[in-house]
Parts: sequence; C-alpha cells; structure tokens
Amino acid sequence: MISELLQKSSLFSLLHRIDIDLTNECRLKGCPFCNGPLYQANYERKPRGGPEGLPDEYCLRHSLCCGCDGCRRRCLPSSCLFMGRRVYFSAVIVVVMALRQNRPNGASADELKDMFGISEKTLARWITYFREEFPLSTTWQQLRGRVHSSVNNNGLPGNLLSHFIRHANSTEEGLVACLRFLASDFSLLDSSILME
Ligand SMILES: [Zn+2]
Repeated sequence: MISELLQKSSLFSLLHRIDIDLTNECRLKGCPFCNGPLYQANYERKPRGGPEGLPDEYCLRHSLCCGCDGCRRRCLPSSCLFMGRRVYFSAVIVVVMALRQNRPNGASADELKDMFGISEKTLARWITYFREEFPLSTTWQQLRGRVHSSVNNNGLPGNLLSHFIRHANSTEEGLVACLRFLASDFSLLDSSILME
C-alpha cells in the first residue's frame, strides 16, 4: 500500500539526494541577481510524517546565499522533500491527499489522523489549497501542459500521482517522479515566500 512507502527511510534518503543534486545545479548557475558565488545557507526544519529516526540532514531545507558584498541574497533551490513552508514532508502531503481523493473509497479524515497524526484542520487546509489555490497558481499553469490532459484541475494532486504511478515501474518510482515534477516549479513559489 502506498502509505507504507512513507515509513521507508530509503524513500527519504533518495529525496534527500535529489535535493542535493537540485542544490548543486542551482549553485552552478551562480546568483540570479548578480552572478556572484553561492554558498550553502540551509534552514533546519522539523518536518512531520516521515519514519522515526531519520538522519538530521534529511530535515534540512537546502538553501543558498550569495557571497558578494552588497548582494548577499538568498536563492532557494527546488526541493522534493519540502513544499513551501508546510510542516509535513511533500511526500506525505501528496500521498495523504491521494488517499483522501481515491474514489469511491477514499480514506476518511479519522483514518488519516490515525495513520499519520494529521489533524482535521491541517487536512482541510491542504484540501482547500489543492482545490482552490493550486489549480489557479502559475506553478500549475506552467506544469499542466507537460502532463496528459486526463490530469485535470479536479482531483489534484491525487490524479497527478496516479498518472506518474501508471507510467513508472513501481509505486515508489511514480511517487518520486511526481515529487520531482512538482518541485520543478515550486522553487518559484518558495523563493517568493522565503525571500521576504
Ligand atoms: Zn548576488
């Protein structure tokens, strides 16, 4: 079952390695404002929903900072581990939403609370976000042309996850591909929020 994936440290290890690659790609481009060199300036996070005992480095939100005097601006690489400032890991948010949206027998709010300790309030916020805000976001406007038209605005992100799982060799590979896809533009969203 897909929820069991979230108990595997190996999944988070893989997502962590992808985040390192994304950070290195971003660093190689240099500062987007002045072309200066970028240095590591990570944020420590306390993400929820992953397995017990994950190494501390999996809980870092990779971030870079320009080394030029007079600039010193932050540059936030894309991330497969984190979705904006949300407390839960991205993988947990996407899987929980998919379980909730799975028709006709989607998991109830109570079942999700038992499985992941997610409060009804948090779940309601995610549902509202994916129903009302995400479909209208520039992120989704840019991404939607890159997936099959059967992935429509109703049922995000569960339908997106199903799409990637159908085209992957395993459920885990599908989940990782889905998170990579979402990360390909969440960076824009992140940087506008975090660089304030
Ligand atoms: Zn700079």
